[in-house]
Amino acid sequence: MIPYGRQSISAQDIDAVVEVLRSDWLTQGPTIERFEQAMAATCQARHAVAVSNATAALHIACLALDLGPGDWLWTSPNTFVASANCGLYCGAQVDFVDIDPLTLNLSVPALAAKLAQAQSRGRLPKIVVPVAFAGQSCDMAGIRALAEQYGFRIIEDASHAVGASYRGRPVGCGDFADITVFSFHPVKIITTGEGGLLTTQDDQLAERLRRLRSHGITRDPALMTQASDGPWYYQQLELGYNYRITDIQAALGLSQLTRLHAFVTRRRALAARYAELLADLPLTLPSAQQDAESAWHLYPVRVQLDALHSDQAQIFSALRAAGIGVNLHYIPVHLQPFYRQLGFADGDFPEAERYYRQAMSLPLYPDMTDEQQEQVVQALISVLH
Ligand SMILES: *Cc1c(COP(=O)(O)O)cnc(C)c1O
Repeated sequence: MIPYGRQSISAQDIDAVVEVLRSDWLTQGPTIERFEQAMAATCQARHAVAVSNATAALHIACLALDLGPGDWLWTSPNTFVASANCGLYCGAQVDFVDIDPLTLNLSVPALAAKLAQAQSRGRLPKIVVPVAFAGQSCDMAGIRALAEQYGFRIIEDASHAVGASYRGRPVGCGDFADITVFSFHPVKIITTGEGGLLTTQDDQLAERLRRLRSHGITRDPALMTQASDGPWYYQQLELGYNYRITDIQAALGLSQLTRLHAFVTRRRALAARYAELLADLPLTLPSAQQDAESAWHLYPVRVQLDALHSDQAQIFSALRAAGIGVNLHYIPVHLQPFYRQLGFADGDFPEAERYYRQAMSLPLYPDMTDEQQEQVVQALISVLH
């Protein structure tokens, strides 16, 4: 089976992990800091805070921005459930903003319209979570302008977008978002097994994120409520979690990061080749947003079902039977049973729902060979007749 995504692990990656296993520190050691510094440099960000996964990152990002009961968090329905769940973890309420049918990212005109309505009802969001779907940045300048007008904060879910850029600067640089979140799950752009990271330009937010990742504890005398009892002393200042990453994982991430450019270059080449080879099929191919260079985590197409005799499920089954591991991103979050139970229903976000009924993600990963890609194309040609 040619999977839709897969990690690329080199001998150098394995050596880097083994080296940590032979060292004094398996966790809370120096490799985490080195990984954070390398990611901060890659993103041109002031601070990078590594954590156990991107879901944990989204959670503490919300906490650091003081999201709580009575507040609203808005995100895209075309995302993984974690982008929305983080608001509920904090006791806030969650709502969605429909997507742009071309970029498949949160629609800025839809956001503007919903904000105007919410203002008249006194229900403005405290946080908006734009998601860089498939690795392509949202219209962050447009979202930032609305953030300034309506006073919300921005957590950019860039789980798909390590190595992407927007307006000539790396995603995560903090030009538009208060906090950017990345995932290092094996199907994402670089991996640490499980892992996540936050970038921010704000010194105080970074300090708060570091504290929240480790139980809310500080060893900084300047932050303590009383003089230190002795060299063993620490204080818990707020309720935090154990969301730490290990040095073992950070070593893998640091080693993977040296190949980030090669990974993204290969993904872009495969995407460009798909665009050429699939041009004559009944598929709507992904369209680029101006000013955004995607990291191509996914290659999402829409199947033009009205031109075909089979339905979406039949096409998936036929492709999978042919060894092509197509996948679907995403089931609109508001249609999950858990979210329906909160009051969401079919028809709430029609563009995301329309996309879902046509969507298919084709295999795309850096170690994919030209021959494997041709195999995918041949299978598509024979199934989509
Ligand atoms: C993968 C993903 C997450 C969660 O990442 P984990 O590291 O697995 O917790 C969140 N948001 C989006 C958009 C993702 O794709």
